[in-house]
Amino acid sequence: MEIDKKKCVGCGNCHAVCTMAAIYLDEDGKSVVNQDECVECGNCYRVLRNEGYRPWFVRLIRKILSSLRLGYLAEVDVCPTGALTPRQLDWPRSLRAAFSDPSTVHPGTGVSGRGTEEIKSNDVTGRVRRGEAGLVVEIGRPGIGAHFRDVEKVAMAMARLGVAFEPMNPVTQLMEDEKTGKIREEVLNEKVLSAIIEMKAELKRIPEFLRELEKVQGEVDTVISVGVASRCLPDGTIPHEGWVKKTGYTPSPNGKTNLGLGRPLFRED
Ligand code: SF4
Ligand code: SF4
Repeated sequence: MEIDKKKCVGCGNCHAVCTMAAIYLDEDGKSVVNQDECVECGNCYRVLRNEGYRPWFVRLIRKILSSLRLGYLAEVDVCPTGALTPRQLDWPRSLRAAFSDPSTVHPGTGVSGRGTEEIKSNDVTGRVRRGEAGLVVEIGRPGIGAHFRDVEKVAMAMARLGVAFEPMNPVTQLMEDEKTGKIREEVLNEKVLSAIIEMKAELKRIPEFLRELEKVQGEVDTVISVGVASRCLPDGTIPHEGWVKKTGYTPSPNGKTNLGLGRPLFRED
């Protein structure tokens, strides 16, 4: 995202809605976007209505009001002059929008948002079968984000344990080698709101993975969230819970249950 300085009147409305706190007031009293921190989520542009006022008009009003010791307060949900300007995103910067802008469809997976449905459609796709654990590691969150160099550290740590990375996942598609988890060099300095690594392994290996993630979280400059999933047994029990508890964690109550009417595209062995 860019801000057209010829239009900006420095009202500051865009600062509060930036998911990365990447917008600041410059010395000239106009706002500017820190391009290293901006993840191209488009939130500022979507949330703030363009009021369409001429910049000279708003500046004149502000000047008159300030001479009377009064302030000019634009409505909080507008950019009074339409100064926010989405930029043309070339590779590899376009990756930022693909992972951070919910209205952008990921070119590799056809899914918007962070480019993956994770395990939400498992009853149809059968990504995770009986006896397997699905592991989802999200690197970054709004407010802090994540560089792909940190995503790579997590992926390489997981690869050393011999996981199978989910092929229909946008991070897997950025790997130059799925055996090592190495991510393509040209994207390592790109920053996104968050990226999700998906993989699966035998249920009994859950403690091993959680221990490894504990180690790697000290090496990354962001936060990591972990999800573990498995197929419910016919009696309703959840197979992964015991393995998570063995590692010393208390699984949070099953907070999200996705019920679908989709027809399974696989047969359980
Ligand atoms: S909302 Fe628009 S006019 Fe106000 S500071 Fe941001 S870019 Fe400038
Ligand atoms: S596109 Fe997102 S990260 Fe960039 S300035 Fe706008 S809200 Fe902030």
